[in-house]
Amino acid sequence: MSLPDRHTFYNGKPRSNGSSGPTFQSIDPSTNKPICTIHTSSASEVEQAIRSANLAFPSWASTPPVERSRILLKAASLLRARNDELAKIETLDTGKPFSETSTVDIVTGADVLEYFAHLIASGGLNGEAFHLRDSAWVYTAKEPLGTCAGIGAWNYPIQIALWKSAPCLAAGNTMVYKPSEVTPLHAQFLAEIYTEAGLPDGAFNVVYGDGQVGSLLTKHPGVAKVSFTGQVATGRKVAGAAAGEMKYVTMELGGKSPVIVLPDVDVDQAVDGAMMANFFSTGQVCTNGTRVFVPEQLKTKFEEVLVRKMQYIRPGDLMDPNTNFGPLVSKIHYEKVLGYIKHGIDVDRARLLCGGPGRPESIPLGLKDGYWVRPTVFADCTDDMKIVREEIFGPVMSILTYSSLDEAVQRANNTELGLAAGVFGRDINQCHRVVKQLQAGITWVNTWGESPAEMAVGGWKQSGVGVENGRKGLEAWVRNKSTLVEMGGSVPTVFAKL
Ligand code: NDP
Repeated sequence: MSLPDRHTFYNGKPRSNGSSGPTFQSIDPSTNKPICTIHTSSASEVEQAIRSANLAFPSWASTPPVERSRILLKAASLLRARNDELAKIETLDTGKPFSETSTVDIVTGADVLEYFAHLIASGGLNGEAFHLRDSAWVYTAKEPLGTCAGIGAWNYPIQIALWKSAPCLAAGNTMVYKPSEVTPLHAQFLAEIYTEAGLPDGAFNVVYGDGQVGSLLTKHPGVAKVSFTGQVATGRKVAGAAAGEMKYVTMELGGKSPVIVLPDVDVDQAVDGAMMANFFSTGQVCTNGTRVFVPEQLKTKFEEVLVRKMQYIRPGDLMDPNTNFGPLVSKIHYEKVLGYIKHGIDVDRARLLCGGPGRPESIPLGLKDGYWVRPTVFADCTDDMKIVREEIFGPVMSILTYSSLDEAVQRANNTELGLAAGVFGRDINQCHRVVKQLQAGITWVNTWGESPAEMAVGGWKQSGVGVENGRKGLEAWVRNKSTLVEMGGSVPTVFAKL
């Protein structure tokens, strides 16, 4: 499949502007073949995109919430109607199986659009009013911020674009969005859907390119907020640049999340959870539970069940409904993940339970040039190993054993990251006690990975600042204005005649 070239999208349309500048390719990770040429946005195109968002802002901000809601709901229904078409694009761009993109990526984005559309239509942006004293009262308003920048990672492209743009637009802001250069295809489809749904020209704009293009947004005085999803190291740079201009920020960053298996657990259930926490999306999920803490007495049983269930992971043709495991997203990322797998064997000397270097055996000949790795499990891991300390962002599970729960909790928390954590066990009170002690912003009990629109999610410690989704997710896109009204007829003053 090949798609027409992509150009900076502003003021309601893609703008080719003569197209003489640098370009890059979107590559199908399953075959290593190019699918689309993307034109990098020049500094002046980024400027035009921001100007277009700035111009659209006053009118969109003063559009009544119910009207804004209607447009966002229309966009959600267009997304749902085109689910399979968009899912195919995401599969081509990211290498995720269609069985996953068609059931998760677009659906969870449309859910969030509907959630925020309904929230603003039912008073979610209302302020409060209260009497201060007989002669005075106070009212507050939630005001939009202005033009906001959304900068996305490559692992959930359209979902990230929607988790940022839905509350942003719902609150009355406008957006300039930069997708990752690794997975840019969804952006124009989304922009066109917003336009078709009735969003005014300029309210949602797209710029393309690498970190340099991103940095034009983060330092621009015409941008009021930066909502960023990506690595901790990049997040530090982005937050630093934004802070220099006193911009609002939301930072959704990396993790190295623990799964704690309690001694009374249903082992089958815990293994299913640990597999979802490591191999869904080929392990390219920020909340991955890559450090699996298992009680010493369950180690053998846990490993046996895991090895048996690993055969249910099925790499292959991404459009085959039975395929549930794809390649990694890019060559660079493939080399990085492979490097960690080799390091785990050669330097950390962890015990290789499954997988290892090399491609999965079942990959058909036509896909042999794709970025495939084997789902890999290391056992007998220790906390000091590089594979246990660093975010790999690939299908690599580390099993660690523990002898007491206090020890497991202390070791689980012994990281500068704090994105997610989870507990599996039959004693629900014990599960709650453990979860309460875990230092992470997103936690699960007896499940892993579900992130519905209603649930605010965000990292602790170095894993982020602020949250997305839920009621709190809307608050992140507004600023407060308080007004004190005096009805007593005179201004309290110290400058009165003696
Ligand atoms: P990166 O940090 O490499 O990139 C994220 C985005 O930032 C890309 O669009 C990138 O551009 C852009 N960028 C790079 N440098 C700058 C800069 N100086 N100024 C502005 N923008 C810049 O992350 P990845 O794309 O590799 O994504 C993977 C990471 O994202 C993982 O660490 C993962 O944990 C995290 N993540 C966190 C989530 C969360 O909700 N907490 C959810 C999903 C992922 P480009 O790449 O095009 O050069």
